[in-house]
Amino acid sequence: MNDFDYRNGRLYCEELRVSAIAEKVETPFYLYSMNTLTRHFRAIDDAFSSIPHLTCFSVKANSNVAILKILAGEGAGADVVSGGELFRALKAGVDPKKIVFTGLGKTADEIEYALKEGILMFNVESSQELMLINEIAQKLKVKAPVALRVNPDVEVDTHPGVATGSKESKFGIPLSQAMAEYEVAAKLPGLEPIGVHQHIGSQILDTKPFEASIKKISNLVKSLKLLGIDVRYVDIGGGFGIQYTDEDAPSPKDFANTLIPILTPLECSVIIEAGRMIAGNAGILVTRVLYTKEGGDKKFIVVDAAMNDLLRPSFYQAVHKISPAELNDGAPTEKVDVVGPICESSDFFAIDRELPAVKPGEFLAIFTAGAYGFSMSSNYNSRPRVPEILVSGRKAFVIRRRETYEDLARGEGIPKDL
Ligand SMILES: *Cc1c(COP(=O)(O)O)cnc(C)c1O
Repeated sequence: MNDFDYRNGRLYCEELRVSAIAEKVETPFYLYSMNTLTRHFRAIDDAFSSIPHLTCFSVKANSNVAILKILAGEGAGADVVSGGELFRALKAGVDPKKIVFTGLGKTADEIEYALKEGILMFNVESSQELMLINEIAQKLKVKAPVALRVNPDVEVDTHPGVATGSKESKFGIPLSQAMAEYEVAAKLPGLEPIGVHQHIGSQILDTKPFEASIKKISNLVKSLKLLGIDVRYVDIGGGFGIQYTDEDAPSPKDFANTLIPILTPLECSVIIEAGRMIAGNAGILVTRVLYTKEGGDKKFIVVDAAMNDLLRPSFYQAVHKISPAELNDGAPTEKVDVVGPICESSDFFAIDRELPAVKPGEFLAIFTAGAYGFSMSSNYNSRPRVPEILVSGRKAFVIRRRETYEDLARGEGIPKDL
């Protein structure tokens, strides 16, 4: 459920008409509903309320500091994968004791930064990383709280670009090696192993792979406890799938009800890292039709947004629902490609999609763009990045202004003797 809906054929975000916002801020832009964002967070947090838990928002899904601040206000922690994301989470007021740091290529600088800020734990992805964290922690005279990111070797039915839990994956430490690594970690003076972590992929529309992997993980936790390693956190990662078009996505309760019986006997605090399920349907991308044209036996709608603004269709062949912001009663539908202005054939939002006929100047909404939308955007083709607008009730806030041409060349310099 979300707060983007049609009333008398006009698209609203909460109490504001999308086309009215579009006239004001110009296109393209991202539009978020605060109500949807907080409701989705609470749905996940509540689903796990029967056991001790911490719901972390995956900052890479949507890194805007206003979004992070709202979620922090709801009690969310943060799952970060870089020093930059850690900086954003702290700037937004996320309690460092609610921040977990994942990623297989953490640098010494990033590790030192996180240790100084006193984060909850590092999710460690290799034995060399374990050694480096130990070294830096000793230098700083602290003990680094660590979990190992275990690769449970489960197959997940999702796009290969976002599957992370098979044994061919670059992520994590194979389950078979985990015990040995924990024994090493327990002996190192700069480390305190306190958790076990997994993250098996993204946009997973089935509870079964989670069930299978958490069963494997729970056996590991039990063995570790027998060894005297005080595991207090089980971080189950994220990846909960959502509806883009007609997917049948399990609800937060479905995921929780499957996993809680396996997790409860472990007597650990459970960490949930959710990105897409919180932010995905809390945002849309609004774009304007520039031209319509026909070529060969194809019809094209050329819009002012492009793959640099929303990469998912080009990058993952993702299908996003697209619809005019103002529906025209009785407009015939036609089969079209919705494409952007960038000089790449992969710059598209839809291929052979049946859409109501539209004219230049009309606004289109591209739905489910709140996660991995703006955060994956770039300046390719020297296109200034678009603004992000947040709606709450009848109010709209610019939470990131549109970039200017000057912004594009910021930091660049022409050497004097060139
Ligand atoms: C990306 C990521 C997540 C979030 O994935 P979603 O599919 O957005 O829920 C969680 N944990 C880790 C380690 C990730 O890399």
